[in-house]
Amino acid sequence: MSSNNYDYLDGNAAAGELSKIFALDVTAAEGQCAHCGATKRFAEAHLYMQGPGVVARCAVCEHLLLRYVNVRQRVFLDVRGMTYLCLDTSQLQESNR
Ligand SMILES: [Zn+2]
Repeated sequence: MSSNNYDYLDGNAAAGELSKIFALDVTAAEGQCAHCGATKRFAEAHLYMQGPGVVARCAVCEHLLLRYVNVRQRVFLDVRGMTYLCLDTSQLQESNR
């Protein structure tokens, strides 16, 4: 379990899973780490997908940013590791004609 490796992907790997629940592209969103205060695009986060869901960690301090677990018809989203997540709504106007 604690293999102590750095076997992660970048945040882009979560695009497919997160597009099920977010109308906007989360990987392009900017989030602030609640632990170290770093503000980065979600695509830069370190993503661990070997568990029963998706875990995103801060690229700077490795603190937990987001957990996403899909259980049957429900999705559990834990974003307490982020102070905020800033999404660009200009994408919506383009696809909403
Ligand atoms: Zn951090």
